[in-house]
Amino acid sequence: MASADMFPNVSFSDVNAAASQEAAGKAVFGPDPASGAARLSLVRPGAEQAFQIDLSDAQIFKLGPMEWLCVSGETEAKAGVEEKLFSRAIKVVLRTEAESKAFSLAFQRWKQQTISGKAGESLENGSIVACKSKFDTKIEASSAQMYFHYYGQLLHQQNMLQDFVRTGTYYAAVMENRADFEGKVVVDVGAGSGILSLFAAQAGAKHVYAVEASEMVEHAQRLISGNPSFGQRITIIKGKVEEVELPEKADILISEPMGTLLVNERMLESYVIARDRFLAPDGKMFPTTGRIHMAPFSDEYLYVEMANKSLFWQQHNFFGVDLTPLHGSAFDGYFSQPVVDAFDPRLLISQSTYHTLDFTSMKVRYIEMILKLIAFFVEVVIVCTKCGIIVFHFQEEDLYEIDIPLSFVSSVGTRVHGLACWFDVLFNGSTVQRWLTTAPGSPTTHWYQLRCVLAQPLYVMAGQEITGRLHLVAHSAQSYTIYLTMSAKMWGVGADPGGILQTSTAKLELKEPYYRLSQPQAYMPQDQQQLPLSSLQAQGSGQQMQDGLSPGITVDQERDSAAFTRQV
Ligand code: SAH
Repeated sequence: MASADMFPNVSFSDVNAAASQEAAGKAVFGPDPASGAARLSLVRPGAEQAFQIDLSDAQIFKLGPMEWLCVSGETEAKAGVEEKLFSRAIKVVLRTEAESKAFSLAFQRWKQQTISGKAGESLENGSIVACKSKFDTKIEASSAQMYFHYYGQLLHQQNMLQDFVRTGTYYAAVMENRADFEGKVVVDVGAGSGILSLFAAQAGAKHVYAVEASEMVEHAQRLISGNPSFGQRITIIKGKVEEVELPEKADILISEPMGTLLVNERMLESYVIARDRFLAPDGKMFPTTGRIHMAPFSDEYLYVEMANKSLFWQQHNFFGVDLTPLHGSAFDGYFSQPVVDAFDPRLLISQSTYHTLDFTSMKVRYIEMILKLIAFFVEVVIVCTKCGIIVFHFQEEDLYEIDIPLSFVSSVGTRVHGLACWFDVLFNGSTVQRWLTTAPGSPTTHWYQLRCVLAQPLYVMAGQEITGRLHLVAHSAQSYTIYLTMSAKMWGVGADPGGILQTSTAKLELKEPYYRLSQPQAYMPQDQQQLPLSSLQAQGSGQQMQDGLSPGITVDQERDSAAFTRQV
């Protein structure tokens, strides 16, 4: 059964009571801890339970725009048998019309659950199969549990809030584009502490629905209540964006769904699902598009550092034991970890390229639906699609596998140690277009940059082409397996006059990166970005290195760390 829905600021009164007194408190929909049956609890401050309403026989009646009457059977034990003897009516008053709508939806949803029964329960004509949301069908329960546990903790939300580049850019993007928020209905997808909802409300939003699946909602509620001038226009809804219902369509979605390499955590998929579920046609999305940037790099120091990690396993006499049989596996293991750090952009050996994900167009349009139907019957359409004659627009499923062809021209003769990646996102406002970038050389963010290191480096000459493929395959632990292939032609003794192709491949696990950091990165204002070489060195490969940090140590510095990867 779903987790509880809470309405923190309601007033309620028992209509039956002779001297009925209105009390302030919260209304919570949730399962009864003992029976699992859905109920509505009305709780006074200090967690004093005032009323409990069993939703199986309850009904609600609208008394006014923000007033509801909940009528249910009242139980009385008589000679050991529970009987519903008479009806009880509780009046519940919400603060705003939007909350009132959300309350009625939550009532219907929880009541529906009692009517449709519990998963696994057997009925006369069959048994009930749990109706899993899109999130639950593709993500392992254990991964999701760790993920939302992580985000339920304030210290991790603080870590993101303290990333000044991140939070400041969101603030600027919202405030510079007030026209996109003023008088508008906003949905904050994965609201966390509620910061982006508060920004949207500051920019004049008519109403903000802040949807958050983790226990952070409790803190977000307190933050919002403590900022009443904006908070009055914010409704917090606990649940996954794949599952909750909202009372109205949104004019604009705001979210911060980016993980390492943009796609880690697979939250972009939730963002796209939220678009399809909540956004009005022609609604806006903040951010609007994202780009993964890539360039080959040469970093002898990093390569040696990685290769040396497995030297331990080359000992022939470790307390009398020969460790060398495991050297190969240890070596491969280290090279399967993408390296996360802030590096000097001078390590790049060619112009970067990028791959764009347009969040707004990742929608199945009507025409495409028809084409897909035709494709179902006419195989030739499928063939045309594969050949690129018909190109469908992206949808959430297009993030399950991302295939990027690579082509670069090396500007120097050197050893190529792998592929460096970073991302940026665009807030395509109607007044100002603002980019949030995580590029090397730009002010460092908690995402840093990511490098895939090849166990077998390539040799290139200046002007030589480097080709390849970056293939990202999503998995149920909310991350991706990275398959990298890089090739360059080689000339030399014994090679054909046209050269022979040297190819190096790597398979890496995005969920298990190597955090090559020890110092928090200093913020560099925009106008000081062209720094002298010496100071860049301090930021990049020359920085103090620390290996084998536990997630506990790195957690405070970055969002994505070992246990998960926005640290889950
Ligand atoms: N918007 C906040 C938090 C961003 S972190 C900020 O900018 O500071 C992403 C948040 O989204 C986390 O709190 C996480 O719990 C939440 N989240 C991730 N997937 C979600 C989903 N499918 N449904 C609801 N919330 C989700």
